[in-house]
Amino acid sequence: MSSHNEHPVKNNLISRIKNNTGVNIYKCYQCGKCSAGCPVAYDEMEYPPSMIMRLLQTEDKQNEVLVKKSYAIWVCLTCEMCFTRCPMEIDIPTVMDYVRQESLQEKIIHPKAKRIVASHEAFINSIRKTGRLHEMGFVMEYKLTTGNLTQDIFLAPKMFEKGKLHILAEKIKDTALMARIFKRTKK
Ligand code: SF4
Ligand code: SF4
Repeated sequence: MSSHNEHPVKNNLISRIKNNTGVNIYKCYQCGKCSAGCPVAYDEMEYPPSMIMRLLQTEDKQNEVLVKKSYAIWVCLTCEMCFTRCPMEIDIPTVMDYVRQESLQEKIIHPKAKRIVASHEAFINSIRKTGRLHEMGFVMEYKLTTGNLTQDIFLAPKMFEKGKLHILAEKIKDTALMARIFKRTKK
């Protein structure tokens, strides 16, 4: 039974992050240590990690969309430098990961990030099918998805010679186990 003392349940991005990952962004007090230590904050990201925390704290719908459409969430290396430096122990890489998922679901990913997404998907599909990374399948799927067919083509014979590129996929024995892992992860 509800009472008038209960707070209404918020469904903004900062609350969904808290509910789904346990990370509390309200604790951020904008010291900037995360941004100062981030290897890509100023060269690659349009918003450094501390600014992403601030944009989310505003609970403003437009700011949430800015974050979800940003390139910053895709160039994050998940290196955890920010997390290590944060006095409030805010797990920023997990936040980035969560926002990437919503950005993907809503199909509002930054145009420059499409290659990164194609590479992630090719990697996951290779693991899903064989339980291992099949280099040739991974490269072909990435190239077909991005339409980037000829880049690095001269590298292939050298890699093949050195045994780094396998034509046939090697499978792990228990592929059913891999299927179960993917099914449970999806849930
Ligand atoms: S995890 Fe991402 S945001 Fe944090 S320091 Fe590394 S690249 Fe920057
Ligand atoms: S280091 Fe932590 S508290 Fe400081 S700005 Fe970054 S997220 Fe906020």
